[in-house]
Amino acid sequence: MPELPEVETVRRGLAQRILGERVREVEFARADLRRPMPVAAIRALRGRRCTACDRRSKYLLIRFDGVGEPVVIVHLGMSGRVFVEDVHGRSLPPWRPHEHWRMRLGDRLVRYVDPRRFGALDLVDAEGLASHPLLASLGPEPLGPEFDAEYLFARTRGRKVAIKQLLMDAHVVVGVGNIYASESCFRAGVRPSRAAGRLTRADCVKLVDAARHVLERSIRAGGTTLRDYVGVAEDSGWFQRELAVYGRAGEPCRVCGATIRHAVMGQRATYWCPRCQR
Ligand SMILES: [Zn+2]
Repeated sequence: MPELPEVETVRRGLAQRILGERVREVEFARADLRRPMPVAAIRALRGRRCTACDRRSKYLLIRFDGVGEPVVIVHLGMSGRVFVEDVHGRSLPPWRPHEHWRMRLGDRLVRYVDPRRFGALDLVDAEGLASHPLLASLGPEPLGPEFDAEYLFARTRGRKVAIKQLLMDAHVVVGVGNIYASESCFRAGVRPSRAAGRLTRADCVKLVDAARHVLERSIRAGGTTLRDYVGVAEDSGWFQRELAVYGRAGEPCRVCGATIRHAVMGQRATYWCPRCQR
């Protein structure tokens, strides 16, 4: 599943290629993904210029100029991928397998491919973006200023839930997926099963720093998704970062040599070092 670092990588790739370009054509191969797509309204973007490629959590926000300053919201779901190709002349290439929509901006073709179709495509005016049902209840961005140690400390008070599960709760903070939650807890020296309410302020400082570090490193590497992936351009593969604990059950800790443990917590695979994490 594309995680925040992968989506951020796609965002940067899109921004490099379509910023300032005008929509020339929009085509749909079907009318719905996990929910209906606003086909007519998105076709009506023809002639509008792309003014920004933003991201909120795992949603890509492609902004356009003109009346209402519309924003196209793209979610990659479980298996969505975005390709951007150069096109010349009038004719577009044949549809790829599982390609559901595509948009030509200038001489660039943005193609959305999603075999499992859990992704989403929507359109909203800039004014309605914050209250859009997909975005309204999201917690702060993990790399933004709102997610700091004081915030995390406040959100953990009185909570019995395991800290790793709390980190993965999008109402608390967005975009800390399963791999990143395990890796962040390791780096902070906090056992993933510890009750969130038992974290000290010092633990929260370490955990916020750890989450930022793990996500930023992963963004620099282009994401960690553990299978064959193609990014914004066909030649930009997804790199698997060197993970400290995730997927390493039974192997020695890179810091202390103890055997990495594994358990299922909240239905998700969880890894930790029994000596480095308390
Ligand atoms: Zn260790």
